[in-house]
Parts: sequence; C-alpha cells; structure tokens
Amino acid sequence: MFCWLSRLCGELSTPTRRTTQLIWSSAARSMVLSSQRIPELSSFVARTNTCGELRSSHLGQEVTLCGWIQFRRQNIFLVLRDFHGLVQVVIPQDESAASVKKILCEAPMESVVQVSGTVISRPPGQKNPKMPTGEIEIKVKTAKLLNSCKKLPFEIKDFMKKTETLRLQYRYLDLRSVQMQYNLRLRSQMVMKMREYLCNLHGFVDVETPTLFKRTPGGAKEFVIPSREPGKFYSLPQSPQQFKQLLMVGGLDRYFQVARCYRDEGSRPDRQPEFTQIDIEMSFVDQTGVQSLIEGLLQYSWPSDKDPLVVPFPSMPFAEALASYGTDKPDTRFGMKIVDISDMFRNTEVGFLQDALSKPQGTVKAICIRKGAKYLKRKDIESIRKFAADHFNEEVLPIFLKTNENWNSPVAKFIMEEQGLGLVKLLETQEEDVVLLTAGEHKKACSLMGKLRLECADLLEARGVVLRDPALFSFLWVVDFPLFLPKEENPQELESAHHPFTAPHPSDIHLLYTEPHKVRSQHYDLVLNGNEIGGGSIRIHNSELQHYVLDTVLKEDVKLLSHLLQALDYGAPPHGGIALGLDRLMCLVTGAPSIRDVIAFPKSFRGHDLMSNAPDSIPPEELKPYHIQVSWPMDAETERAHR
Ligand code: ASP
Repeated sequence: MFCWLSRLCGELSTPTRRTTQLIWSSAARSMVLSSQRIPELSSFVARTNTCGELRSSHLGQEVTLCGWIQFRRQNIFLVLRDFHGLVQVVIPQDESAASVKKILCEAPMESVVQVSGTVISRPPGQKNPKMPTGEIEIKVKTAKLLNSCKKLPFEIKDFMKKTETLRLQYRYLDLRSVQMQYNLRLRSQMVMKMREYLCNLHGFVDVETPTLFKRTPGGAKEFVIPSREPGKFYSLPQSPQQFKQLLMVGGLDRYFQVARCYRDEGSRPDRQPEFTQIDIEMSFVDQTGVQSLIEGLLQYSWPSDKDPLVVPFPSMPFAEALASYGTDKPDTRFGMKIVDISDMFRNTEVGFLQDALSKPQGTVKAICIRKGAKYLKRKDIESIRKFAADHFNEEVLPIFLKTNENWNSPVAKFIMEEQGLGLVKLLETQEEDVVLLTAGEHKKACSLMGKLRLECADLLEARGVVLRDPALFSFLWVVDFPLFLPKEENPQELESAHHPFTAPHPSDIHLLYTEPHKVRSQHYDLVLNGNEIGGGSIRIHNSELQHYVLDTVLKEDVKLLSHLLQALDYGAPPHGGIALGLDRLMCLVTGAPSIRDVIAFPKSFRGHDLMSNAPDSIPPEELKPYHIQVSWPMDAETERAHR
C-alpha cells in the first residue's frame, strides 16, 4: 500500500507494482518541488503522528495513532492504515494487557481504532523493505475501538476488481483506495498551484458567481429549477459566461473561479451533468495574451514528476485540423494524417471514386496505416468498412501495396500503376503498410478518415504497436475557427461555433453582413492528446454588433440578454477569456479511464447519484408551492389502451 504523504513529500518507499510506482514516485517529486514546507498533518487532532510517517528516526517515541484495521495476523500483529500509509502494530500478549488484546483481536477489519505505544525496531529478519514504515513497529500500550465496521460490500484492497456501479453506490468506501486518494490529492495540489499562479503571481480575483440564474439562449441544454413564483424558473448556468463578462464591465479586470457548471446532456466517459471549469476572463487582452497566460498556468501547476511542459504550445488552424486529422481536436501524438489524393484519381476506374469526383464537392482522401498489413486482420478491415457504411454511408477501400498481400480486394486491379506509385510517394508508404481510401464531400470524408485513423491506432496498439507514448502530453491550440457553423438539424440556419459572445476575426468583420458563414472568429480551443480541455474567445464588446449577431444572424430572442446588451453600452472594456475543463484535464494527467475517477462524488453514466438515489421523487404536496405537477408518462399498458 502506498504511503501517501511520504510519497508526496519525497521520502523513500517501494511500491509493489510498477505502474503504481510510476504514479506515486512522480507525485512525491511534485510535492517536494512544489511546496515550500511539509504540511503539519497531526495538528488539532487526537493523534501524535500519522501511520505512514513513522521511520527508524522515530525509535523510542511514544505515539498515538488513529486508523483503520487493514490486516490482522495470528492475533499477534495488526496493520493499521490511514490516508498516509500503513504501520505494523504488535498486539500485546501478556495477561496484564488482556483488555487491549481483546479490543485489537476482536475488532472486525476496517474498524477504526486509536492506539498508543512506543515505536520500536522490528526484530532482525522481520524488516519489510516493501513498506515505507517496514523498519519499525508499534508496541501498543493502550487501544480504543473508535468505531466498529460491519461486513463490507467489497474489500478495501487495490487488487479487488469492483464494478463501477458498486464503486459509486459505496463511493465513501471506494474513496479509501490508493488510486482515488492519489487522484483527489493531485487534483487538490494542481488547483492550489493554479490559484497561486493566478491570484498571487498575476493579480486575478477569485469571484463566485450565482448558480441560480436564468435561461441562456443557444448552447447546451440547461437544468431547470422551479421557483415559488407561478410559471417562473431558474436555470443552472452551463458556465459563468455572462457573469464573467459583466465582471469585466464592472472593472474587476482579471477574474477567475473554480466554477461548477451544469449541462443537461447525456453522460459520456468524458462528460458529467455537473463539472468544474477553471474559468478565466481578462480585460484589454488579445488571443496571444490568453494563450500565454494558460501556457504559464499549466507549466506552473504541472506535476513535477512529469516532464516539464514546453511552451508555447503549437497551434493549428481549424481548417488544417479538419483536413489532416478529420476533427477539431487532433491527437498529434502520432502521424497517419489524412491526405487529399483527388488529383491522382481524376481518371480512376473505381466506381465509387468516379462517382464522388464527378460531383462539385467531391474529393478522395487516404490515410496510411503503418504496418497495417502485418497487424490488421481481415475482419478488422471488414469492420472498418462496415463502420463507414453504417455511420457515414461511405465506402472505404483498403489498398495493399504489395500485390500478393491484397487479400483479393475486389477493386485492387483498378488501381493503376502510376496511382499506386503516386500513393507511395504522397503517403510515404513502406513495406507492410495499408492505405485506406474513401471519397465524398471534403468535411464528411475527412471526418470519416479521422475516426478510422483513431480506430486503427487503437487496433494497432491492442496488437502491441506503441503509437501513442503514454508519458507524452501533446498540447495543441486550435485556432481560426469559423464564427458560425450550419445547424446540424437545419443546415440553412447558422449557430455559433463557440458561443454567441465570441468576436469575429478583425479582418473578416465586413463579411458578417454579407456572407456570415465565411467569417473566422477569435475563438481558440486547447487540445491535449486528442481531447478538448479548454476553449475561449475574445468577446464582442460592442452592443450593436452583439445585437446584430444574436438577432439577425442567430435569430435568438435578444430580450433574454437585454441586461448584457445594456451593460456593453455602458463602457465595456475589450475583453476575452477561456475556461479549462478541470475534470478532463485531471483525467488525462492521472491517466484515469474516466472523468468519474477524478471527481469525489460523480454521477453515473445515466446522470444518477447511485449512493443517495438522486434524482428522486417528491410528494405532490411538496410540489404545490412551486405550482408544478408531474405529468407521468403513460405506461405501456395504458398507452396501448389509449390507441
Ligand atoms: N464559457 C465558455 C465555455 O464554457 C468558455 C469561454 O468562452 O470562456 O466553453
């Protein structure tokens, strides 16, 4: 078991598993470098020391410890655990200490006890080099059972496999695990460093903004909160966007907040209905200013067990991200970029390529899967083609550049020699590579290829090829987004690519009134290893322009934002900002499989709190003050009867 604080404070210990070792020893170094002094861990409480801190240097000291019973061996030894680590306790065997022996031998595992005694050296041959406290043990004089533990739904052992449902149902027990302790403590440390950087080094002001607010047009679905006024509802903010801009109008100049945000969208591995942002806004700033601030912030708060971050982060225009990676959040840890090979195939005999190229928007795209012929199986290629057909209604053609490895690809013979050679040159293909080829409208073909690129990377890695170094953190700014995108459900209408408060690119403002879909914006996203971990923009500070965007371009109800439009009219300074998704960032930093692993009390995949059973029903009489009534969905039976 990991000795928490000794790791975090850089003392020696020998974890048993290599992966654990990597995480823990790095955390240790990070603490040593980041904190000026080792925190006082036993102030104000009923212990003199923590279980994990005792060493040979404490020999002879009288100590009082509090902790959970982790193991008991032959009624002779106990291993006591607290947040800091494990320590061995010797159960007294002599008659005079019978009552102490009784307490320590009868208390069930995971009971909480307080013991007092002397730190003694373990007898020769009994030292445990795997345990940070393995040189000593506690000769107990008195013991108190503070609270007994009933039979647990699962053992508190890291090697015990538990379903996520069980973990969430008994989250308070799951939190006792080494991994959860590590994740939450590292999160706390990083947030502390961020506060330090923003407030102490750069004069930001930490301001709390309301969570009871009103509906904001556009953007994500919001949670609704009933009020006692008939027919009136609050909404939970999807972000403090309006408030942070209003704080700039209010002259706060530099604002930040560890802000809770709420979005009523289905959960995904990297989403939660409530999540936390490091929310930032500055007056008199441009895009480069915000980007430099974030680079400095991440560099400063980055755990020092990891390679230091190199800044500035690279930057890529949105159009290039889409063309080369098929997404606005490219994973730049590996190549396999999308290449446009339309020109090479203008006179192709392959039917679906011909078809696509005969259309005005038609293109042909390719990616080269390194060593694909060696590692991909025929069934992989089949499932790739099925995915393309099912989700994109597109064909994908695999090409094996060595004829004897073409797996009888039905159209391989139609690829002319010069096309084959052209592919080799353009895609720099080598022995055993496979080229995947598709055709269609640029955006759709790129987006399909982007998905296949990631899918193939997963497949290759599952077969042992190392494509993405797990220790690598590849940050990237994506810039020059369009200000508006066609709405998915109605492509004739436009919606904001970021949010309606984002300013147009200064050189494109004129297009706003003629060809709004061509306007680039001052919006920037921060991407880490293929995940969007932040986004922001320079804002519109001119009320008229904001009104035009909301009303004429986006066709939103401007009345809902009249307070903001009015504020912009009263001497609003130029301003801009960004928000970092703290949960996602921590998930990537800790290497956790889901953001739920870096949140103390997360919701389940379906948005439920499995521990308390929220959301829960409320009796009708308690709904009365809110003037609302539940309209129960008809159950299947009644519904059928009604038809
Ligand atoms: N409020 C924005 C968001 O949540 C971030 C920003 O523009 O500062 O995405």
